[in-house]
Amino acid sequence: MTAYRGKYADELIKNAAYIGTPGKGILAADESTGTIGKRLSSINVENVESNRRALRELLFTTPGALQCLSGVILFEETLYQKTAAGKPFVDVLTEGGVLPGIKVDKGTVTLAGTNGETTTQGLDDLGKRCAAYYAAGARFAKWRAVLKITANEPLQLAIQENANVLARYAIICQENGLVPIVEPEILVDGTHDIDRCAAVTEVVLAACYKALNDHHVLLEGSLLKPNMVTPGSDAKKVTPQVVAEYTVRTLLRTVPAAVPAIVFLSGGQSEEESTLNLNAMNQLKGKKPWSLSFSFGRALQQSTLKAWAGKEENLGKAQAAFLARCKANSEATLGTYKGDAAAGEGVSENLHVKDYKY
Ligand code: 13P
Repeated sequence: MTAYRGKYADELIKNAAYIGTPGKGILAADESTGTIGKRLSSINVENVESNRRALRELLFTTPGALQCLSGVILFEETLYQKTAAGKPFVDVLTEGGVLPGIKVDKGTVTLAGTNGETTTQGLDDLGKRCAAYYAAGARFAKWRAVLKITANEPLQLAIQENANVLARYAIICQENGLVPIVEPEILVDGTHDIDRCAAVTEVVLAACYKALNDHHVLLEGSLLKPNMVTPGSDAKKVTPQVVAEYTVRTLLRTVPAAVPAIVFLSGGQSEEESTLNLNAMNQLKGKKPWSLSFSFGRALQQSTLKAWAGKEENLGKAQAAFLARCKANSEATLGTYKGDAAAGEGVSENLHVKDYKY
């Protein structure tokens, strides 16, 4: 048996390719209720449905922003929410040429006998949930697996378990019409250098693509969401040029050319740093068989959140901040970002959170 070729195959290929359209990328706005609560509390806003809705409406209705995006990842609650004027968010996105996506994992649990390594839950009823999300308008999905780097981690157990679970998730999504984003996030936490991050990322991605093949995942109808290859959060930083060279080399060694697009997570880098690193990758000369784009959460929203502070009168300022980041990242997918969004308030703020939960 070869890769999936069921009734959704053509649609999956079309949608995955669309998400990878140069000049566009993904806004990850799928923070779980707990995670968005932390963001809201950082601006003294209460974590209630109406405030979560207001924040998402601010983002999705920013004039000009959707043109820079091909997808938005939603949390289940948001998939079924409407604007204050009563228009479903799914319609706002679809009419703006943006595919709605959905976070389908149910978070991580510790693998017994390890030093806090994890696997991700949510497989049991996944087929049923994917079918319901497709009916509600979702066309792609995200599942976050988490690995960490220490002197002797990740263990082979964690690498293997997460690769296998990601592959099960991916094929279940495809059987239900959702393009799976495969996200094996290797946390930036640690003192390791960039060579160690490259070595671990290489082993993890190789294991993931072996598992995806074993599970008959249609690679042309899937996307990869990796960490960029960087030094650990407690090590000396390197330039965007170096991040770009290491990251692209690692991906060339492990990600099949059949995959249409690689959409990076920001992983605690500042807004500007994430954009500069992506831009440097797209400026690199040489072989790059996939498009290289973004699926940023924190790095697309932090300055917007601050500018908004939950106040109606700040809406214009907040939307201007969001548009600036969307445009900067759109340019970075083309390698044409000139650094003109670098002056925005808070765009260089480090967004790293130790042992980040989503
Ligand atoms: P960050 O860009 O904030 O790392 O998050 C993206 C994401 O979707 C993690 O799963």
